[in-house]
Amino acid sequence: MHAYVIGNVAVDETIRVEQWPLAGASIFGSHGSSDLGGKGANQAVVMARCGLSTTLVAPVGVEFRAQSIAERLAAEPVECRLLRQEGRSSDFSIIFTTPDGENAIVTTTDAAENLRPEDALLAIREAQPGDLAVFQGNLSEVTTEALLREARRRSIVTAFNPSPLRPSFQDLWPLVDLAFLNAGEAMALTGESSDAAAAVLHARGVRDVVLTLGADGALLSGGGAPLRVAAMPANVVDTTGAGDTFMGVALASAFLRGTRLDELALIHATRASALTVSRKGTLGAFPSIEEMRAILAHL
Ligand code: ATP
Repeated sequence: MHAYVIGNVAVDETIRVEQWPLAGASIFGSHGSSDLGGKGANQAVVMARCGLSTTLVAPVGVEFRAQSIAERLAAEPVECRLLRQEGRSSDFSIIFTTPDGENAIVTTTDAAENLRPEDALLAIREAQPGDLAVFQGNLSEVTTEALLREARRRSIVTAFNPSPLRPSFQDLWPLVDLAFLNAGEAMALTGESSDAAAAVLHARGVRDVVLTLGADGALLSGGGAPLRVAAMPANVVDTTGAGDTFMGVALASAFLRGTRLDELALIHATRASALTVSRKGTLGAFPSIEEMRAILAHL
C-alpha cells in the first residue's frame, strides 16, 4: 500500500517586526527564519515520518525557491515529484510577527493554482487500487475534482481536507472516502456542527468523518457510534500545522495497521499534534521520526 499526497508546498519566511509596516514605509525586521510549509508538504512529511510509504506530488516554480524546496524535502523520508511550472514562482508566505504574538500572513498561490490536471494525473499513474490519495484545498477546483474522480474510478482511497475553504467543495463529497475538517470548515460546508455535521457528510457519501476541535480534541464518525478523543494538555506555543499533523498521523496509524480510522488512530494523532503545538515553526515543529515511532508504539 502506498500513499500519494497531491497538494502544495510553500516556503514560509518569518520576520519579527515591532510595528506593522505602513504603506510607503521601510522598517527594520529581526529574528528572520525560514521553514518549509504548505498543507500538501506538511501532510506528506508527517505521513512519511510515521513510516508510511509516501509520495508528495506538488507544483513548484523554476526559481531559487524550487531548489531550496527540493533540498529541504530531500532530508525527509518522502518521495517527491515536484512539478515545475514554467514562468511561475514557487509558492511562499511572508509572515510578520509582533512581540505580543500577533501575526499577519501573505501567501502566494501561483504554482498551486496553476497545476494542470493532466500533469498531476500523470504523476500518480502507477497508483493501485487500495492505495491512498490525500488532497487539500490549495489546488484549483478543476484539478482537485479531476484527481478525485480519477482516484475513485481506480478504487484508490481518497482523503480530503477542505482547507483553505472553497464553497464549491460541497460538490466533491460523493468522491471522498475520508474527510478531515475543523469546526469552522464543518459549519461552513454543512451548516451544522459536531455529530450533525458528520451526518450531513455521511449522507453525501463520505465513509469516515474526522472533526478536529482544537483544544477540545477530535471526533470520529464512521463505523459505529461517533467517538470523541480529548486533546492532550500542551504548553501551546504555535498551533500552525496542528491539523496537518493530526490528519497525517491518523491516516498513517490506520493504514500501517491495515484498519479503518479508529480510536487508536485518533489517540496517536492527538499525541503527535500536542507536540506540534508546543513548538514554533511548521515542518520543524512536527514530531521527528523517533518521536513518531514512540507515539505509534502506544497501543
Ligand atoms: P491548523 O489550521 O492550526 O493546522 P486545524 O484548525 O486544522 O489546525 P485544530 O482542530 O485546531 O486543527 O487542531 C487539530 C488537533 O491538534 C486537535 O484535534 C488537537 O488534538 C490538537 N490541538 C490543537 N490545539 C490544541 C491545544 N491548544 N492543545 C492541545 N492540543 C491541541
